[in-house]
Amino acid sequence: SATSRDRLRIAIQKSGRLAEPARALLASCGLSWRESRDRLFCYGETLPIDLLLVRDDDIPGLIADGVCDLGIVGRNVLGEQDGERRNGGREPAFREWRALGFGACRLALAVPESWDWQGVSQLAGKRIATSYPALLSQWLAEQGIAADVVLLSGSVEIAPRLGQADAICDLVSSGATLSANQLKPVETLLQSEAVLAGPAAEFDAVRGELAQLLLRRLDGALRIRHSKLLLFQAPRRLLPALLPLLPDAEVPTVMQLDGEDDLALQALCHGAVTWQRLEDLKRAGARGLMVLPVEGMLA
Ligand code: ATP
Ligand code: MG
Repeated sequence: SATSRDRLRIAIQKSGRLAEPARALLASCGLSWRESRDRLFCYGETLPIDLLLVRDDDIPGLIADGVCDLGIVGRNVLGEQDGERRNGGREPAFREWRALGFGACRLALAVPESWDWQGVSQLAGKRIATSYPALLSQWLAEQGIAADVVLLSGSVEIAPRLGQADAICDLVSSGATLSANQLKPVETLLQSEAVLAGPAAEFDAVRGELAQLLLRRLDGALRIRHSKLLLFQAPRRLLPALLPLLPDAEVPTVMQLDGEDDLALQALCHGAVTWQRLEDLKRAGARGLMVLPVEGMLA
């Protein structure tokens, strides 16, 4: 049974937008796997942490049922299924543990381009097609709007042209699909990205420790994802002009160079270190600028 397992099991998408980045993130936490023949189950080699490769829609349910301990899934899917459980009078069974910084998109309300959009009151009495009925209904209730929710499992964007609905509520990233269907986004219901989902309840001791270990590594991996170590030298008197150019850096380590007014600095930058920034620093008096990748970090 789920309670007697001494290995941690993580559900990720088998194929699709989140599949590769999810695996890559877990691999960057030092996990590796031996794949089974059917490629549905990957046995953890470096740690007792296994993967189950599934449809993304199945991930919240697998956590709720205790078949998996953790999962990587879009906030949109997690939120929808959480809303569905609430509407059914059931207890929350899973929750977002960490935002993972990939798979960004938003759940948006879109209307025909021909509409002169004045505000949400225009939706009263209208039919809205969506695959996210719980999130849409909850949002409509918050707005105090009574509208008909038309549930479609796919191709939501063509519903207005087919006369099935007046507006839609769907995932948007670039907006290209919307404009190809003469629709325009007018409201954002949810900002989404891939998240690490876990149970609402506590783990037992063994899996709790494994989960904590994984979270510590994950937090390190997420922190350094865009981080770079910046090394340079500069005269001490120029520091007040240089430090404001490093607003995203942790307090730099400053080393005094022997017998001179020169300092050697080392700063961990969490934002992008572009050529432009390096040129700005050079202009402000930095010398010997060097940018190094950060491979690992443990706070
Ligand atoms: P599965 O076969 O696993 O059910 P799917 O077709 O439901 O796959 P994908 O299209 O791979 O799922 O999308 C997975 C997740 O990627 C979405 O739930 C969402 O969180 C995120 N995502 C990011 N950008 C977009 C986008 N433009 N359209 C749809 N989903 C997006
Ligand atoms: Mg799916």
